[in-house]
Amino acid sequence: MAETKILVVEDEIAVRELLHATLTKVGYSVCLAGNADEARDIVTCDEIHLLLLDWMLPGMSGLDFAKWLKRDQQLAAMPVILLTARDEENFKVQGLEAGVDDYVTKPFSTRELLARIKAVLRRSGNDAAEIVRTHLGLEIDLSQHRVLAGNQFVPLGPTEFKLLHFFMTHQERVYSRSQILDMVWGRNVYIEERTVDVHIRRLRKALEPHGYQELVQTVRGVGYRFSEQPG
Ligand code: CA
Repeated sequence: MAETKILVVEDEIAVRELLHATLTKVGYSVCLAGNADEARDIVTCDEIHLLLLDWMLPGMSGLDFAKWLKRDQQLAAMPVILLTARDEENFKVQGLEAGVDDYVTKPFSTRELLARIKAVLRRSGNDAAEIVRTHLGLEIDLSQHRVLAGNQFVPLGPTEFKLLHFFMTHQERVYSRSQILDMVWGRNVYIEERTVDVHIRRLRKALEPHGYQELVQTVRGVGYRFSEQPG
């Protein structure tokens, strides 16, 4: 898993944008949908780790969408947090019966929302560790969005950051350029495989002053591997 991806389904643009900004800032990857139809397209073709679903949507309601999702064999395990402006017991029962994992009542505090997301991801086993370290002392911190080599900050561009996170969470295995594109850039993005080489070069260059450039190894004719063993 390259990173934790959350789908926000909310028709109110201001709330959607707020959620997008809030979740991105703490390191989640975020997809947005304005109604159930858009959400259905996204959950069926993209790997989503958690759904943040507004109850009141135009067309199919969030509750009905959750019911549909929980009946689908492939999708039923996807954790759902329902956003609702209704704080009444009766509605909570309906949601629980539909199989949603938790609720957040609007207006919500950012802190509460993030705590609930974390808890649901932890329960479902979908959370990516926030801090990943190599034995040799390279450290990536998702919540702070930074990389440390010893105690030194390693400045990385956003793509190099994602690439390094992917490698650090998938060590000692060889990946082809097309696999790396899928896992780091996403399956629905059309980019030339050569782009991977460009970002690998930048990543190595950023790691070089700290002596970690050789962790990113070229495997001739196949692709790349991240390894602490000499290549
Ligand atoms: Ca709404």
